[in-house]
Amino acid sequence: MTSIPHHADPTRAELRQARVARRLEHAITAGGLQVYYQPEATLHPPMLVSLEALCRWHDSELNLVTPDEFIAVAEARGLIIPLGEEIWRLVLNDLPTVLQRWPHARVAVNVSGLELAQPDYASKVIAAVQARGLHLAQHLELEVTESVFHTDPATVKQNLVDLKAQGFTVAIDDFGTGQSSLSRLHTLPFDKIKMDKSFVQALEDPTARAILKAMIDLAVSLDKVLVVEGLETPAQSAMLQSLGCQFAQGYWLSAPLPLAQLLSSLQA
Ligand code: C2E
Ligand code: CA
Ligand code: CA
Repeated sequence: MTSIPHHADPTRAELRQARVARRLEHAITAGGLQVYYQPEATLHPPMLVSLEALCRWHDSELNLVTPDEFIAVAEARGLIIPLGEEIWRLVLNDLPTVLQRWPHARVAVNVSGLELAQPDYASKVIAAVQARGLHLAQHLELEVTESVFHTDPATVKQNLVDLKAQGFTVAIDDFGTGQSSLSRLHTLPFDKIKMDKSFVQALEDPTARAILKAMIDLAVSLDKVLVVEGLETPAQSAMLQSLGCQFAQGYWLSAPLPLAQLLSSLQA
């Protein structure tokens, strides 16, 4: 029987976390993790620009555990660094196949603040990419949330600066949630803003629409790419286009899929 996390009961939650951590540690070393890819595309006409790598884990005992749960467990239990290394390994294995189909695409990897707080993070990633050809860096992107700058901003910033110098790009993920601050934008080394899906979900609301429109205009003035996350319907797509939005990601364009499935579904 699958155990369900019960947050009102700390003992059950802790037991669940310990069990997930034990199984996850095994999955990381035994090749039990997979990467699904979700396109980011232009809205009109729809053309693929990049692919976001999203970690998937199907455990024989726990069944499908969501990334929201197992990434949090990995961060809490000291597993996020080996997990991140495994994701880079899987992505670098897939990258030649991606580039054969979309020669100008980038693949974006989600990175946790704990990874970026390691002083040697950039050099480890650069070495892993270099082993396959450093020119591949221009096809790679890191997705970070603003929270990565809360713990050790100097180390995080240095890692991002070093990676950008090799050709990696940096996207700020889930923008508009948590502790986003406009004033921070001009001090951060980044290339792209990903507007959190809550903005698309609130498009009917004139205030949310006005904020989104202002962000789209701000991104243009800052010479940054802006991608809207969570696009689910053609009506939302039309509304985004009327606001001047060029790039989006969401189920309406494609769900995250295994690479082989994505290649065949976008064959036409
Ligand atoms: P995220 O980086 O914000 O990823 C976007 C999430 O939204 C994904 O959930 C994706 O499946 C989902 N999504 C995509 N399109 C739509 C849509 O149209 N509507 C809605 N409602 N949702 C959509 P997923 O794959 O469950 O991942 C959840 C989070 O887990 C990610 O949020 C990311 O923060 C984290 N994560 C996933 N893979 C990794 C990884 O390899 N490393 C790290 N550090 N975090 C990861
Ligand atoms: Ca992301
Ligand atoms: Ca996001």
